Amino acid sequence: MRLVLVGPPGAGKGTQAQFIAEHAAIPKISTGDIFRANVSQGTPLGVQAKAFMDRGDLVPDDVTIEMVRMRLLEDDAAGGFLLDGFPRTVPQAEVLDVMLRDNGTRLDVVLELVVDDDEVIRRLSGRRTCRTCNRIWHVDFDPPEQAGVCDVDGGELFQRDDDKAETIANRLAVYAESTAPLVAYYASRGVLIGIDATGPVDDVTERAIDALRPARSAEQAGRASGSGDRAGDDAGDGEPARP
Ligand code: ADP
Ligand code: AMP
Repeated sequence: MRLVLVGPPGAGKGTQAQFIAEHAAIPKISTGDIFRANVSQGTPLGVQAKAFMDRGDLVPDDVTIEMVRMRLLEDDAAGGFLLDGFPRTVPQAEVLDVMLRDNGTRLDVVLELVVDDDEVIRRLSGRRTCRTCNRIWHVDFDPPEQAGVCDVDGGELFQRDDDKAETIANRLAVYAESTAPLVAYYASRGVLIGIDATGPVDDVTERAIDALRPARSAEQAGRASGSGDRAGDDAGDGEPARP
């Protein structure tokens, strides 16, 4: 299954991506996680991306698209993937369509997580992320057993620099201007499914899995009847760091 999650920052894309990817047995590819790994390792890509991320702006399309192109060539993505945080602009979506078409594939579903701005602000201001496994927590809504420590692997939890109040405001404005148009873009292509992403995390996961069921069945039926997938390839030298 080839799946994209779309929604404002803080909608719960990363949180749901963990569960959906596991359920559908596909790799979760988060462009935000890949950029953060590159920033913390000081790679040329990370140095280039950092200033944009710190301001809550988007990293330029050419840089982001090339990074995703390389990631999608890796073997684990050949049979399907879940993209979290990409595409984020219409030009990114157009290039993704072409990349997939060139490989004889297409997106199965774009799942929109629908949440209002007030909820997003509450979520982002309490978000904490594990430095080692990227598991996402919230100080009030999804707290770890011990504050500041990941239940999964004992890793240190950190607050993202771009989750400060001033940066959140800019990220919401950037979403409205550059990313929200993707909803109409994908609706017009017949692949958009919107779900209510409020309420407990488990309820949202259940809604997401229910919403994906018809597409998963269609995709499994297609595979059983022998419709082909492209072969994977190695990313090669100079590959940026990724989590
Ligand atoms: P995104 O990837 O869309 O930016 P995240 O998955 O990182 O969003 O979620 C943002 C914050 O909201 C995190 O702290 C997460 O724990 C919390 N969160 C996610 N889903 C819910 C939910 N259904 N209810 C309350 N808090 C949530
Ligand atoms: P996220 O973890 O998805 O909230 O992304 C964190 C930051 O990484 C964003 O605010 C952008 O600066 C950058 N980023 C992630 N994905 C993209 C993308 N598809 N296009 C441009 N910038 C991105």
